[in-house]
Amino acid sequence: MPAKPFPELSESQTSDLKESLLQWTLANGLVMYPPNFQDFSANNAPITLFPTPLPKSSFQNAQDVQKLFNELYINLILKEKSWLIDILRKLSKFDADFTGKLFEVYEKAIEQSPNKKLIQPLSLGLFRSDYMVHDTTNEIKQIEFNTVSVSFGGLSTKVGELHTYLNKSGYYDSDYSYQYYDDEEIPISNSINELAQGLADANYYYNDETKSTKTVVLIVVQPGERNCFDQRHIEYALLKNHGIKTYRVTLEDVEAKTTVNDSKLYIKATMDEVSVVYYRSGYAPSDYEVNPEKTWAARLFLEKSKAIKSPSVLTQLSGAKKIQQILTKEEIIKQFLPDISETDLEKILSTFVAIYPLDDTPEGQTAKKLALEQPEKFVLKPQREGGGNNIYKENIPGFLKNIDEKEWGAYILMELIEPPKHKNKIIRNNDIYNEDIISELGIFGTILFNEDSGKILTNNNAGWLLRSKFSSSNEGGVAAGFGCVDNIYLY
Ligand code: ADP
Ligand code: MG
Ligand code: MG
Repeated sequence: MPAKPFPELSESQTSDLKESLLQWTLANGLVMYPPNFQDFSANNAPITLFPTPLPKSSFQNAQDVQKLFNELYINLILKEKSWLIDILRKLSKFDADFTGKLFEVYEKAIEQSPNKKLIQPLSLGLFRSDYMVHDTTNEIKQIEFNTVSVSFGGLSTKVGELHTYLNKSGYYDSDYSYQYYDDEEIPISNSINELAQGLADANYYYNDETKSTKTVVLIVVQPGERNCFDQRHIEYALLKNHGIKTYRVTLEDVEAKTTVNDSKLYIKATMDEVSVVYYRSGYAPSDYEVNPEKTWAARLFLEKSKAIKSPSVLTQLSGAKKIQQILTKEEIIKQFLPDISETDLEKILSTFVAIYPLDDTPEGQTAKKLALEQPEKFVLKPQREGGGNNIYKENIPGFLKNIDEKEWGAYILMELIEPPKHKNKIIRNNDIYNEDIISELGIFGTILFNEDSGKILTNNNAGWLLRSKFSSSNEGGVAAGFGCVDNIYLY
């Protein structure tokens, strides 16, 4: 069945809808701080007026492969750590300032630990696998797999609740009397509770080992975080659902506000013991730029502590774009998921578009030609996270020619995905924009594993996120100002 069109509303209905929508966002914390905020006033987060159509089968496929992807990425660590380390060591040479520094933290943490082994074998992944739907086939195609600081699990639940409220209240209907969508057509992502559950699982297993009674979660945040409300929703759920308290520190504050005793990490002010360090910072060079010595030292200090890290440095690095490129190969998937069924293998493989290395291998040589001769089909990605780092289409040849060919190996060349365009409306501050949008679906997953025993303790789906952006912009960062938070309308 084709998707219903977006609701068609008169000017006065749109203005009613806008008022109800904006008041709901303020009443329920679907908000964000404005750039350079000084005080405590926040604005509605950029969102869509309506949910955006997504084929049911595409959504189902993305849900179906999440636990496999969770397992695939942590198996790089559990099954062939030396293979992973070799790749990361090579990458570190290309990108000494960031990948290299992170890798150094990993090596130093081991070097400085008793018996040359990290004290905490447990590790928590809060992951998000991102996709776009391919326009002609409805196949989901992976954009990237995120292993650090995944965001918008908080606001995603909220936007689903908002669209449901507007729908149930009749705002999407021209007579204000009917629900335009059936309830099950616009499901609400349970990501707030599920991500909190992931942290609670780690807290539980931490205490299983130490028999300590009451522990807290430490969230490492960026100074002046505009998207802190997204994080707060998870904190509130952690306290409400599990009775677990949270503390927030920046990397710069770690030294002043925390301490270790017998490797256990404590909050200085209260001497609360920390079970989990949850990073919502530390994924980009800018997180370490202002005070490099102190912030890198803080990362090492936390890595060596007994608290469970989400993620550990190695888990963070396993999400490098270069690793994603290597993982598109069937034989590699089979190597890391040896028990995978044929059906599951096909499902995973069907999510990949071509990703090439730009190195001296025969494949790399072919890719270099493609990058220079048919750049309009590709996006060039460095080993970076957080949006705004990629080079698109016709900008690729000029960019590559400007850097030494020896450096090209630090990038991957990825086929562009062409998602369908939709006529949804975006509301940003108080203004409504009518432009074609394209959407990116993210599926959250949580996985807790033990590096010593090789055991996976929990592995779960954890809700989803739909982000949309004007189809005219190349990048979709919500905080960066290009995109918005959306929700799915399944058809
Ligand atoms: P980051 O880790 O910085 O988020 P991504 O790989 O997600 O890097 O790329 C950023 C954005 O670029 C994506 O959100 C998407 O909008 C766009 N993008 C990335 N890869 C592709 C692709 N293969 N096809 C189309 N758009 C892409
Ligand atoms: Mg990313
Ligand atoms: Mg991304």
